[in-house]
Amino acid sequence: MAVEIPRLPCTLPLPLSEDVLVELVDKTKDWALMHGAAMRSKSNFSKDSLNFAPFVLLPSAFPRKEFYKAVELQQILNELMHRVAHNREFLTKSLKETIQVDEFTGNLFKIYETVQDEGVIQPISLGLLRSDIMLETVCPTPGKNCPPNALYCCWKQVEINTIASGFGWLGPASALIQRFVLQELDHHEMLANLPENNALEGLCSGMLEAWKIYGDAKAAILFIIEDVTYNICDQRFHEFELRRLNPYVKVIRRTLTDMAERAKLGPDNELLIDDYVVSVVYFRAGYEPGHYHSQREWDARLLIERSQAIKSPSIHYHLAGSKKVQQALARPGAVEMFLGEASKIEAVKEIFTGLYSLDFDEFGDQAIQMALDAPERFVLKPQREGGGNNIYGKEIRDAILKMKDSRERTAWILMERINPPISTGYIVRPGGPKIPELVDLVSELGIFGVVIGDSTKIFSNRQVGHMLRTKISTANEGGVAAGLGALDSPYLI
Ligand code: ADP
Ligand code: MG
Ligand code: MG
Repeated sequence: MAVEIPRLPCTLPLPLSEDVLVELVDKTKDWALMHGAAMRSKSNFSKDSLNFAPFVLLPSAFPRKEFYKAVELQQILNELMHRVAHNREFLTKSLKETIQVDEFTGNLFKIYETVQDEGVIQPISLGLLRSDIMLETVCPTPGKNCPPNALYCCWKQVEINTIASGFGWLGPASALIQRFVLQELDHHEMLANLPENNALEGLCSGMLEAWKIYGDAKAAILFIIEDVTYNICDQRFHEFELRRLNPYVKVIRRTLTDMAERAKLGPDNELLIDDYVVSVVYFRAGYEPGHYHSQREWDARLLIERSQAIKSPSIHYHLAGSKKVQQALARPGAVEMFLGEASKIEAVKEIFTGLYSLDFDEFGDQAIQMALDAPERFVLKPQREGGGNNIYGKEIRDAILKMKDSRERTAWILMERINPPISTGYIVRPGGPKIPELVDLVSELGIFGVVIGDSTKIFSNRQVGHMLRTKISTANEGGVAAGLGALDSPYLI
């Protein structure tokens, strides 16, 4: 029986009249473009031009209490991830099977083991995290945690990103676009319900804090970038924000190939590239196999890891953010190993949805049977980042039947599909119609965290802001750059 998914209310009575829409959309596109809420076009690429990033015209209604609950949880998640990243036994055990069949994760793990065995040169890590969550409307225990017929049940975590957690700029920028729209519509009184969002400043302050800890005023902050950066505004605004916060810190951008060609270590393991000493490495690339064109890029990653520079993420943080580790953390008793207080443990476990390994044991076999019996209830995920890698619905069955008897299955995890509430709104896209269609939407909230520390101590732990991505309700994934998702921001109700 198909379940009716609950709907969130509209922030304004819809539809808007066509006359209002035509003018408003045209003006807001220009506003977005002229304020840097933009990207490079994939279909019509030129380094010299930008398209505005797709956006939702009006902010999406969001339950206020749940929003602040998610914000408050972030510090606990930061602490959890920091501890997980520093637990060699847990990482090794969790990834043991996967690294034998997934070459990419295997290569990351090799770097991890190499530096662990040699002795880690820079004990301090900079975590710039983003926990992605969705409201769940289907309650597994109706009446227990939420009232029967409640609009939504609770937050469920999609994943936590520990590398290249983007949208520190486009997150806050979304609210700026929608503020502009609300003002254009003479709804000034509504602005108070758009929560403050200082993600960009918060993330950049984290980088500057690490730069200060490194303690060389002349040393640069290095962004590791892809060969071609489509999400250029998001990245550049980080760079410009660093410049605004401290005009004296040099920021440089290099690819892993540049690093392979020209980077080296100094006498004290300083990371040197061209004429710079690097204090902090901020990875906006390196999270997918395509970023490593050859063994030389892998060697460059190892060189960076062996250096004295503070990395975001260091290799252990990168591994801690893998899907396999997320699944291992959802096992009974796992969170308890890392967090002492019962209230913290409870709060984290509440946002975990069902996550299952496909290992060759009775649990893996059970998960395989569950997926074959009801594939629409799940998402099948490999060890990849950046969107577009997961398998959904009926295709899960085909994929599982194909891999069920091979070792490859241990590189995947099975996750319960989250069913977020539906809202109604307009998505404005480059090249889209003059009058956008009113469509059904679902949202994914990302909360940013900054955590700095070493294996024994956490020096800084903050929640620093948020981003909201919204997609057509029938789309499986909502990557903004991929074309299905759009910038949005929460309107608290
Ligand atoms: P990636 O690291 O590639 O971003 P995610 O786990 O975030 O991988 O999955 C990509 C997208 O797929 C998410 O942004 C979300 O839209 C969708 N998705 C992932 N897991 C689930 C889930 N359990 N339920 C519903 N949608 C999901
Ligand atoms: Mg991810
Ligand atoms: Mg994701």
